Amino acid sequence: MLCNVSSGGPEEVDAAARAAKEAFVDWRETAGSERKQLLHRVADLIEANGEEIALLETFDTGQPIRFMSKAAARAAENFRFFADRAESASDGLSLPAAGHLNYTLRQPIGPVGIITPWNTPFMLSTWKMAPALATGCTVVHKPAEWSPVTATRLAELVHEAGIPPGVVNVVNGIGETAGRALTEHPDVKAIGFVGDTRTGRAIMRQGAETLKRVHFELGGKNPVVVFADADLDRALDATVFMIYSLNGERCTSGSRVLVERAVYDEFTGRLAERVKRIRLGNPFDPATELGPLIHPKHLEKVQSYVAAGQEEGATLIAGGRCPEHASAGNYFEATLFGDADRSMRIAREEVFGPFLTAIPFDSEAEALEVANDVDYGLAAYLWTRDVSRAHAFAQRLEAGMVWVNSENVRHLPTPFGGMKASGIGRDGGDYSFDFYMETKNIDIALGHHPVPKLGK
Ligand code: NAD
Repeated sequence: MLCNVSSGGPEEVDAAARAAKEAFVDWRETAGSERKQLLHRVADLIEANGEEIALLETFDTGQPIRFMSKAAARAAENFRFFADRAESASDGLSLPAAGHLNYTLRQPIGPVGIITPWNTPFMLSTWKMAPALATGCTVVHKPAEWSPVTATRLAELVHEAGIPPGVVNVVNGIGETAGRALTEHPDVKAIGFVGDTRTGRAIMRQGAETLKRVHFELGGKNPVVVFADADLDRALDATVFMIYSLNGERCTSGSRVLVERAVYDEFTGRLAERVKRIRLGNPFDPATELGPLIHPKHLEKVQSYVAAGQEEGATLIAGGRCPEHASAGNYFEATLFGDADRSMRIAREEVFGPFLTAIPFDSEAEALEVANDVDYGLAAYLWTRDVSRAHAFAQRLEAGMVWVNSENVRHLPTPFGGMKASGIGRDGGDYSFDFYMETKNIDIALGHHPVPKLGK
């Protein structure tokens, strides 16, 4: 056991929401330049404490330290990026009309609830919290019950940076109690949620009574499409990275690889070699590539897909077991299934672990059909040297984000989010501000236009 964490319920959520409502009065009026400075100070503190944050995160989640060090650095970047935008957050448009000037401006929506999952908890919390704070919103954060530790550390750093009390509040607790209370609270104006698609549906229902604005970043079953003309060495590196990094517990993981039949055997053969060599072990060892999964229940879920794949007739090419040398802990081998088809559960459902399903295809049309034939639509990866095909195919993919000849490389101003069952709304750059702010239009009459006269 690492530590005890208190479990809040509706009362604690109510206290936090009241504090956020009270603090909103001043925080929304704080100059953008001041918010900018304060958010940069949070980033400085995250950097100064980066090693400790990475260690805590590895303790709490089992994610390899090599990735958690990077995640801590990215968390600081998130704060810096939105800090620099704080001063322009309320900018709007000038929309002149005959005899009138219309102009828009944006104002923070109010206290917001942020509900986060357990896969990369610290980084994801900053990704939601930094833009909210930059706009002048105050926050109540409900972290995942399986990974509560670093949320408290983040709140401490926020307060150490000088952000006033009440602007950021954390309530740990169970989703169905603390999470639910937050989504139902009348003082909380919007919910930024990252997590499972089913939970997103529940939150939408729970928030209906108070007309909650919602932003959802949900699950994925993201295709990696490899055409025979691709640079197969690079495609191989990226395919391996996008499913076995971060324990495969990654919303944008490339969990289905669709390979053109002409290179299918060669590609999956080379893939198998690499998968068998993935270094599974102690997550604190910098050489470790795959750590233990977050929780025995999650291990059970990931394992259950091995039986599902075998029952449905796919071929288990590598992994599929808990390794003998690491019997204690939720260790699970990097796993590769081949010869799958799109009807199989391992080709349709989100496993959220180090589990890759390979599917052969014969034509571009078939590849597109298979890629799109799932409920999800978060990310897609496309490998080809044919420029026209790359553009045409990317435009037809049902995914919020497409990377061509690349793994997931994030550029913070770009929109992040999914279509279909993968989400509602986009984060990143100005897209985040659209969510956390109300756009107001103000119309000024420039002269004495004729006002309709009734009852004269
Ligand atoms: P989850 O939905 O089980 O839990 C996420 C959060 O929701 C937790 O804090 C939980 O306590 C809370 N919650 C649960 N029930 C609730 C309810 N009824 N009301 C309010 N809150 C509730 O998800 P998880 O298992 O923690 O995370 C894994 C999922 O997150 C995967 O599906 C993954 O794809 C997704 N994810 C998506 C993104 C993205 O950007 N699209 C990023 C990371 C993870």
